[in-house]
Amino acid sequence: MQKLYIDFDGVIVNTIDITYQIATENGVKKDYTSYLHFFQNLNWDEVLNRCLPVNNSFEEIKKIINSQKYEVAILTHVTSIHEAEAKIKLVNKLFPGLNIITVPKSISKAKVVNPQKAILIDDYVPNLNEWALAGGISVRFDLDLDGKGHPVIDKLSEVLEIIH
Ligand SMILES: [Mg+2]
Repeated sequence: MQKLYIDFDGVIVNTIDITYQIATENGVKKDYTSYLHFFQNLNWDEVLNRCLPVNNSFEEIKKIINSQKYEVAILTHVTSIHEAEAKIKLVNKLFPGLNIITVPKSISKAKVVNPQKAILIDDYVPNLNEWALAGGISVRFDLDLDGKGHPVIDKLSEVLEIIH
C-alpha cells in the first residue's frame, strides 16, 4: 500500500498560531535568542490543550484512514523531547493505532523515512522541496490554495482525488 505522511503543525492543528499567542501573552522579545529560549521551554501540554483542528482535519483524517487507500502516518518536526511526548499522547488519543513519527527539527523529514513514491502533505515549502527532490510525491496544504510549485489542497481528504 502507498505510504501517506501528514504533517502536524499548521495542517492538523493550529499550533503555530497558539505558540505565537503564548509568546505575546508572555511578552517574549522578538529576537532569535529570546525565541529560542521560549521554544525550548514552551509548555506543549498547554499548546495542545489550546489548539484547534484546521479545516475539520480530525474528520478528514478519519475519511482518509477509512478509504484504506494509504498506509497513513503523521510525520512531525519537534524541537524538544517534551514536544514529542505531548504530540504522541494527543495523536494516540485522537487516532488510536495511527503511527506518529517525530523528527528532530535539524533533520530533513526525507532523511527519516524513505520518500520514494510516498506522499507528504505539509504546509512548509522547504519540507516539500526536499521531499520531491528525494523522489517523493509532495502535496502542499494551504488554506489559500497557493501550492508554491506543488499540487495543493485545503482539505486533507482531497488527497484521495488528486493523487492516483
Ligand atoms: Mg507544518
